[in-house]
Amino acid sequence: MIKENVQKILSELPEGVELVGAAKTRTAEEIREAINAGVKIIGENYIQEAKKVFEVIGRKARWHFIGHLQKNKVKKAAAIFDMIETVDSLDLAREIDKRCSEVSRIMPVLIEINSGRERQKFGVLPEDAQRLIEEASHLHNIKVMGLMTMGPRFGAPEDSRPYFVQTRKIFDSIKALGLPHVEMRYLSMGMTNSYRIAIEEEANMVRIGTMIFGERE
Ligand SMILES: *Cc1c(COP(=O)(O)O)cnc(C)c1O
Repeated sequence: MIKENVQKILSELPEGVELVGAAKTRTAEEIREAINAGVKIIGENYIQEAKKVFEVIGRKARWHFIGHLQKNKVKKAAAIFDMIETVDSLDLAREIDKRCSEVSRIMPVLIEINSGRERQKFGVLPEDAQRLIEEASHLHNIKVMGLMTMGPRFGAPEDSRPYFVQTRKIFDSIKALGLPHVEMRYLSMGMTNSYRIAIEEEANMVRIGTMIFGERE
């Protein structure tokens, strides 16, 4: 099933749109199956879980962190992940910078936008994104490469569109600034029920779990 699901998604994605297989709660075996079917990037939400599957799978995929990153887990994250999609404070950016400088690497990061302005959700508010990016651009061991958003959870995919539009507008306006050391390349939006809408609104990275692996327990 996983194989067919991945092939169906990949055959639908327009050129230039990257698929992140959102793999929370999935076993290494399931993840391996997805990779064998053509998934190149695996997204993980929890460090402990990521560590377990990473030990089995290693660098056969690229690893993106897509959960909420606590500062005390950054050191472990720096050892596994190729990108952190959920930077939402200067504090966190500084910690990633520090841990990456210790191991002489530069971490590509996306800034997470709380496009729904939901109090219980993570991410920076839309109006704070530019300042955070400007501040983070001075850190030598991270590189800002774009934006990520979740948006509120809806039943109807179309309801997500305004949040994707808003995030795309922020993306475009920051890109137009041409900030030094910032490369606005990735716009990560859209999940199983909303990725088609996200792509219409210019997402070039979609994070899909359920449609690849089935419903979570
Ligand atoms: C779980 C998750 C996804 C994928 O959600 P599905 O609805 O299963 O496709 C995407 N992004 C993030 C941040 C997630 O936590």
